[in-house]
Amino acid sequence: MSLIVKNINLTYPDGDGAVVHAVRDASLHVEAGRTVALTGPSGCGKSSLLAVAGALIRPDAGSIKIAGQELAGLRDEELAKVRRERIGLVFQNDNLIPGLTAEEQLLLAVHVAGRRPSRHRKQAHELLSAVGLDGAFDRKPGQLSGGMRQRVNIARALINGPEVLLIDEPTSALDSTRGAAIVELLINLARERNIASLLVSHDLETLSDVDGILHMLDGSIVDETHSGHAFSALGAAV
Ligand code: ADP
Ligand code: MG
Repeated sequence: MSLIVKNINLTYPDGDGAVVHAVRDASLHVEAGRTVALTGPSGCGKSSLLAVAGALIRPDAGSIKIAGQELAGLRDEELAKVRRERIGLVFQNDNLIPGLTAEEQLLLAVHVAGRRPSRHRKQAHELLSAVGLDGAFDRKPGQLSGGMRQRVNIARALINGPEVLLIDEPTSALDSTRGAAIVELLINLARERNIASLLVSHDLETLSDVDGILHMLDGSIVDETHSGHAFSALGAAV
């Protein structure tokens, strides 16, 4: 259930007939159960690479494999299905729906994936407990702290059992203690659920326990910090 990204290039039109080269020949590999961080200065292409890995944007070139399935060449409907069923996304902004309780946020995601919410209520409760929200199932976003909202967001990303979890700056709205707790939670959830997890963060202090750190600059992955043999990058043949 790994995530393999190979030789991704992505450009955006800049409005003047030229292009912005947001991602340049980026490759990475995240094994199931591992969490790899992607870090680098603002504008270096982290969110763009994550959006490509999450099948939100089609790259100009390159390959994405989720648990062996190649995404290049899939039709739009097939990509949407992969996104719904195999990928969990967590963004900085939690995008929770104001009128829904924590439990309902998760059950709505179940419904959107074409499953029956009534069959997943127990699972929703288990997930909310797993992210530390026992006793908050019935609270709406306005009744939750920023850290708690981010935990609901994470639980929602996991409710449909994704194989890959993509997380963009989940701690930037939190203080460093809460941020570190969220990263710890993400690492543990990925390990327990055998999910390949790619975490964008420029908050290096919170990344001491991840399985590897990729450094990005001007669209390229320029360096990697290993922890064991959990991942490889820089175009390694995988
Ligand atoms: P990061 O997440 O590392 O801050 P981004 O992936 O958001 O970087 O952006 C990479 C580059 O692509 C930047 O130069 C940014 O201005 C540009 N960019 C991002 N999104 C778009 C877009 N939708 N249209 C045009 N340029 C974009
Ligand atoms: Mg970004």
